[in-house]
Amino acid sequence: MIALEAAVERKAYRREGREVAAISALRFAVPAGQFACIVGPSGCGKTTLLSIIAGLDRAYEGSVRGPAVAGRLGMVFQTPRLMPWLSVRENVRLALEPPPRQEGRAEELLREMQLGALLDAYPAQLSGGQQRRVALARAFVRDPDLLLLDEPFLSLDAPTAQHLRELLLALWARRRPTILFVTHDLREALSLGDRVLFLSAGPAHVVLDLPLELARPRAPESAAVEALRKRLMESYPDLLRGLAAPSSAESAA
Ligand code: ADP
Ligand code: MG
Repeated sequence: MIALEAAVERKAYRREGREVAAISALRFAVPAGQFACIVGPSGCGKTTLLSIIAGLDRAYEGSVRGPAVAGRLGMVFQTPRLMPWLSVRENVRLALEPPPRQEGRAEELLREMQLGALLDAYPAQLSGGQQRRVALARAFVRDPDLLLLDEPFLSLDAPTAQHLRELLLALWARRRPTILFVTHDLREALSLGDRVLFLSAGPAHVVLDLPLELARPRAPESAAVEALRKRLMESYPDLLRGLAAPSSAESAA
């Protein structure tokens, strides 16, 4: 069953009085429950695409359709975007639909995500990794049909990023939401996805749609992922320029 069908024919921004195209003829469909990764060079239009799919941006030509779009949406932004004046518990409860607020659900998930000791802490008291974990909990607490993640583990040290990837995979395995995971880190995409959609430099369109058949679990630094990455780099050198970039391991700076 197709969960989502995106056809963004054109999206442009106005810049200094001119229209600049950010997306052009970008089309793909995602089956229900698939973990699809989207990679593309920085500035190519990935965040723009997710905003359109989330329904946050309606100023484009084209359509985004499918049962997943009509269902519950979870979103993890490029920065954690927690409310600084709310505690961890309150930040996650905020995503639950009132009323009733599914009493205890936020706390249960936060405990399961090893944030039980921080329920009453405020975002400013958390590490970067903990903030991103709370952002992940907030997206999962509504039991989303469609989960959109925008470089969610950027600027974390390698072990923390890997821990969060494993957590995400475990949450996904349980309820199988359809996932669109945006990253510019090829190793990360290859280690996570059922499939990788490669976007061109802007205006973005799909240049390669690669199904992944590697068994899980597969760490970003594993031999299988590394071998596939090497093969891709050899087969599509132009496509992957600007992407080869550091795994999140090295982008901790
Ligand atoms: P990515 O997430 O792939 O790095 P973005 O979707 O953020 O790329 O941006 C794609 C292009 O659109 C970039 O050239 C960016 O500068 C431009 N852009 C993004 N948001 C806006 C905006 N609100 N106004 C004008 N230009 C924008
Ligand atoms: Mg972005």
